[in-house]
Amino acid sequence: MTLAESTLDPAHALYDHTLESGLGWTHLLSPGQVLRIVDLEGNQAVDTLFYNALDESERYSAVDTVREQGNLYLSVGSRLLSSEGRVLCTIVADTCGRHDTLGGACAAESNQVRYALEKKFMHSCRDTFLLTLATHTRQMSKRDLTANVNFFMNVPVTPEGKLTFEDGLSAPGRYVELRAELPLRVLISNCPQLNNPCNGYDPTPIRLLIWSSEHAGDASSRELHSSPFTPQPSAD
Ligand SMILES: [Zn+2]
Repeated sequence: MTLAESTLDPAHALYDHTLESGLGWTHLLSPGQVLRIVDLEGNQAVDTLFYNALDESERYSAVDTVREQGNLYLSVGSRLLSSEGRVLCTIVADTCGRHDTLGGACAAESNQVRYALEKKFMHSCRDTFLLTLATHTRQMSKRDLTANVNFFMNVPVTPEGKLTFEDGLSAPGRYVELRAELPLRVLISNCPQLNNPCNGYDPTPIRLLIWSSEHAGDASSRELHSSPFTPQPSAD
């Protein structure tokens, strides 16, 4: 696992917003702009999707991203690929070191199956994604929702090939930074889930900062420490 701190200064950010848990957010980034997502209180799950802003039918592909990097988890250096095989964005700094590609978004259906029948009508990331798309875009809808990234979420694969939702590796103030490699739409659901032990049954706010490509171009991330990559058992 490699961790890398950013040298970008929040005082120079173009945009600085705190997003409460349970709320959605979408924003357009120009190539070279950098988005930082800060896990303000630790162990929050930030469900995120990416699209080519010029043609939103081209979107983040978990399958292509995992295959090309040969690793189920995302961290610094990960290139998030689109359904057309192009790089949408690159993780340029990361002080958490573990981000999930497999767990997907919570939904009314998974609330029922995973927790209890009466949990169906509780808030879910899928509903937040749909509401955010309906409010902020013209044509995007449920057909645009695909397998998402869960930043800060720890979903290890067991030797038997099962997924487990584990206590998070994140902590208050840890962050991940992404550089847009093409005109990018970012869609976030700051997970509202009250039933999952991985956030301590307590969803919490995140901070979102964006830097211009001029500022981001000047900065370089600083590697904190690294350890040899340990191959993880595959889910196959
Ligand atoms: Zn969720």
